[in-house]
Amino acid sequence: MSLREDIPDRLIIAIGGNAMHPEGSRGSAQEQKQIAADTARSLLPVMELGTELVITHGNGPVVGKMLLRHAIARGRVEPMPLDICVAHSQGGIAYLLMQALENALRAKGNPRHVVCLLTQVEVDPRDPAFQNPTKPIGYFYTEEEARALSAEMGWNMREDSGRGWRHVVPSPAPKHIVDISLIQTVANSGSVVIAGGGGGVPVVREGMGQRRGVEAVIDKDRTTALMANVLGIKDMIILTAVSRVAINYGKPDQRNLDRVSLSEIRRLHAEGHFPPGSMGPKIDAAIQFLEGGGRRVMIGRLEEAIPMLRGETGTHIMADSP
Ligand code: ADP
Ligand code: MG
Repeated sequence: MSLREDIPDRLIIAIGGNAMHPEGSRGSAQEQKQIAADTARSLLPVMELGTELVITHGNGPVVGKMLLRHAIARGRVEPMPLDICVAHSQGGIAYLLMQALENALRAKGNPRHVVCLLTQVEVDPRDPAFQNPTKPIGYFYTEEEARALSAEMGWNMREDSGRGWRHVVPSPAPKHIVDISLIQTVANSGSVVIAGGGGGVPVVREGMGQRRGVEAVIDKDRTTALMANVLGIKDMIILTAVSRVAINYGKPDQRNLDRVSLSEIRRLHAEGHFPPGSMGPKIDAAIQFLEGGGRRVMIGRLEEAIPMLRGETGTHIMADSP
């Protein structure tokens, strides 16, 4: 089958913050550019087909490093609150992606534009997440380091999927994506749109429609699902650091999932296979998206977008047939 038959006319792709900023990497500018270039190579065939494409991305590791930088330099430079850090990370990550995607297109003589929209996302100030931080950001620490940071900085620290200890922050549910119609307009015009980076800058809406930033990081997978549902996009790809979703993840009886139905994934989620802060939000997002009219969710490795669209790899979660 030709690639055109495998690729839907409209597609939303969420790129993992951790996949773009892997654990083992130092996160140097060179490393980040390389990963952006690899991402562009992976997505180039989709961009070349002219598919209507909206891209979102995470920011967990990057925003965590910003906070640490601010913490270390706090005697000299005023630290910034988390909403401003999210906005900085949106700009920085989208800049690298936008440049790499356009460079890949230009290398093929393709003039398609890639546009980045700074995105605010409204959350409910009464969201219970503000009382229970679950979203890991920044470096992995040993338990001892984590205790020291918690005591010094007042950070909440939590163990993350057997990979080490991390700073966790509130991750409220996205309620409304500001300027969503503008995202649609730009996507319709033929440009690739990068929006909702880092889940969007979390804001609350007040009496007369004024907005104010709040200290949280929205999970980008949930923002992506909401965006896709509102835009009426039926196919969602979540690119991350593992090639498939697994049950009994990290245990001797781990089993990778190939193709599952919405009802099946709901049941597995209820059994506790998908932890908060990593795979849990992706599965929540997948369920929300399929319940909201989505057709199919693909979860897999950043480098494997095309093989995934061809059905050769990844975990495919399908809406239940009516
Ligand atoms: P991203 O930055 O792409 O959102 P996360 O680290 O938030 O990535 O979530 C993906 C990670 O979740 C995987 O790389 C893996 O380490 C971890 N994980 C936890 N549970 C599972 C599971 N059941 N199946 C696959 N991966 C899992
Ligand atoms: Mg994540």
